[in-house]
Amino acid sequence: MSVALFTLGGTIAMTGSSGGVVSRLTGAELTTAVPGLADLGVPLDVRDTQAVPSANLTFRQVLDVVGAASRAVTHGAVGVIVTQGTDTLEETAFLADLVWPHEAPLVFTGAMRNPTLAGPDGPANLLAAVRVATSSAARDLGTLVVFNDEVHAARWVRKTHSTSTAAFASPNAGPIGHVIEGQVRILARPVRRGPLPIPADPARLDAARVALYCATLDDDGLLLDGLAETHRGVVYAGYGVGHAPSTLAPVLGALAERIPVVLTSRTGSGSVLRHTYGAVGSETDLLRRGLINGGLLDPYKARALLRLLVTAGARRDDIVEEFANHG
Ligand code: ASP
Repeated sequence: MSVALFTLGGTIAMTGSSGGVVSRLTGAELTTAVPGLADLGVPLDVRDTQAVPSANLTFRQVLDVVGAASRAVTHGAVGVIVTQGTDTLEETAFLADLVWPHEAPLVFTGAMRNPTLAGPDGPANLLAAVRVATSSAARDLGTLVVFNDEVHAARWVRKTHSTSTAAFASPNAGPIGHVIEGQVRILARPVRRGPLPIPADPARLDAARVALYCATLDDDGLLLDGLAETHRGVVYAGYGVGHAPSTLAPVLGALAERIPVVLTSRTGSGSVLRHTYGAVGSETDLLRRGLINGGLLDPYKARALLRLLVTAGARRDDIVEEFANHG
């Protein structure tokens, strides 16, 4: 009953240098520092993959890890853990979830307090991750984020605090489970969508640039100029339920005639609407102009989905359908 552990760096693996902590601990060093881990008797197949701050990760690197994780499951691992920095974890875990085909859990975790500080949370998070990765209750839930003894669906999780050890939350749904006295308790089972294919051609993925554009007060939209020449899609993080200034509505509409533009909310939780407001720049108006409804997906997750779809050469109708499924 082995678990594959892929390490990608991040605070969980950072130790001191004169200029601040940097990623340098190996997976073997990380696991040695976890009290109680050896008592679980779970063989860990450790693969040190990257030792970077998570800001440096790319779609391609993450998908390569997911591919290797998938092969580990095919070769008998009951579950897989990925340790990485927390800054991009809500994006990487969701990207992995979009393509993860197995019943075996794929668990992402990390730490907010590095190992040189009092009360580092990495060991506790890693121990909880191993418990979840080996739990029969956690099977067929897709990709999970285990943090602070909570289990979050990658589909819903957000990093909501810059320093707290309770940085991860699922504002729309709450955690789907908890680790209580070492037992994994799953309280809700999100519906899984069929996996999208992992892009076979890395060059196509690299070329599939998708922009994220956030609504801000009194923006003249200059940054949107020429975007269709450089990008294959845009996620627009609109105000509230999906609104834009009336001056930007035709600009977004013109863009949507050339590349897919997905409408999301910049608020951090809740869905964009479809047909409640009627002003120019309202959700009704923007959707009529050809923007695609992102539903409950936050802008970062919408961007991950759109980039995979654009890479696969999906047509507008397929993109609309996928967002209806995932959003
Ligand atoms: N900056 C770090 C990273 O994402 C933060 C962390 O690991 O918590 O790599």
